[in-house]
Amino acid sequence: MFASVRSTTLLGVVGRAVDVEVHVGVGLPGFTIVGQPDEVCRESRDRVRAAFLSRGFTWPNRRITVNLAPSGERKGGAGLDLAIAIAVLIADEQLSPEAAQQCAFVAELGLDGSLRGVVGAAPLVAAVRDRRVVVAVSNVTAARAAGAHDVVAASDLAHVLACLRGTEEWLTSESPTTSSVEIPLPDLADVRGQPVARLALEIAAAGAHHLLLVGPPGAGKSMLARRLPGILPPLSDDEALSCTMVHSAAHVTMPSTGRVTHPPFRAPHHSVSMVGLIGGGTSAMRPGEISLASEGVLFLDELGEFPPSVLDALRQPIEEGVVRVSRARTTLTFPARFLLVAAANPCPCGAGTPGICVCDDSARAKYLRRFSGPLLDRFDLRVSVGLPRVDDLVDGCKGEPSSLVATRVMRARAIATQRNGGVNSKIAVDDLDTFAPLAPTARAMLRRELEVGRLSGRGLHRVRRVARTIADLQDAPEVIDETHVATALQLRTGLSTLAGAVR
Ligand SMILES: [Zn+2]
Repeated sequence: MFASVRSTTLLGVVGRAVDVEVHVGVGLPGFTIVGQPDEVCRESRDRVRAAFLSRGFTWPNRRITVNLAPSGERKGGAGLDLAIAIAVLIADEQLSPEAAQQCAFVAELGLDGSLRGVVGAAPLVAAVRDRRVVVAVSNVTAARAAGAHDVVAASDLAHVLACLRGTEEWLTSESPTTSSVEIPLPDLADVRGQPVARLALEIAAAGAHHLLLVGPPGAGKSMLARRLPGILPPLSDDEALSCTMVHSAAHVTMPSTGRVTHPPFRAPHHSVSMVGLIGGGTSAMRPGEISLASEGVLFLDELGEFPPSVLDALRQPIEEGVVRVSRARTTLTFPARFLLVAAANPCPCGAGTPGICVCDDSARAKYLRRFSGPLLDRFDLRVSVGLPRVDDLVDGCKGEPSSLVATRVMRARAIATQRNGGVNSKIAVDDLDTFAPLAPTARAMLRRELEVGRLSGRGLHRVRRVARTIADLQDAPEVIDETHVATALQLRTGLSTLAGAVR
């Protein structure tokens, strides 16, 4: 008469365990789902009934009530279908309750009774990984990536029942799909010349400093940015798991292992919507590009083309490393620990080169205003990237490969973690004197910059953090001297200077 079966639902990027309770009782035949199901979830009534009939099970022509507990939270998606079907079978005494006691069920049912994979399988399964988890064949890899040890699959509802009764064997491996070939990350060896931009990239990776590249089209800004993941340290187990959960919940193509193992690289187009970039949505709340880029790189090409409102929305996630998205009564938190790299043309026509640029002064000033202000201030590193020199292109030898740069980055990160417990860009202002002490000459140099107004108070802290990273890359002399500070200042050019430099 009554049954309770374990399943799970997705809230943003986190799975929550759900107990599917079913009561089959006297009364007019009917089927009600309570406990805040969304539209897709409510429709499971029709899918479950059709699956019963097409697989030859008896549908109880009585009053069926399904409660999704805890009832205070909204349940979404079709992943509860299988659990509802199993609970109905138990409540109608077609299956013994013991058979499903140690299991959790996460699959959608087709009208023919077949099991279908669901979006967000990794976080869904993670919520019930202490049990045997029954999923569709296409979800086995994702379920294993979520850390579940006992994952089994079945082809259809009849197969699930036979396995629960012990008359058939579960499927335990995913059907061979078109295995995607691992594409190697692009290598810095392909970048010829560009010593300043290469240095900026290395510092950005070592200290997790946000980077702005300004230069004309064809200078290789995007090429440089795409090589950043290749010099970042590999993901830790926790980071890899967190990335896997977000990618699974957002239904993004995954590596064949079902697990994200490299720092992600996301490059949303400037026409991206607010929801697409930040996350949210009306039906299911999905993570946006900034969460998909978490633990990796968010690359905004043509920064000046992004709507100001979208850029404004980036400020809070950059500060806090998480993003909060709200919809009526629900607020969800998604990770957003990305390294921001942006590229911009020096002027509206993009040429920037003397004699070729056709922009007048007012057009240039208006263009610069578009991305000046608070967001610009978040970039610790702002460098100008010129067109590659002909000599470098024709007879220049290959650049230093990513593997060598990555080794230095790893070492610098290890030094920083040991000293300040994290990356240098996150050193608190109060801790700067402890972790980034200045030599008298370096102090004098910063004082001069402040006095002539080339540096603001906030800019000062950022320069000190970058100088700390530069010193760490040179095997960490304890005290920061004027050469470190000079390099840091050189890599933090004012925007008007950046645009003017190429004119
Ligand atoms: Zn121009």
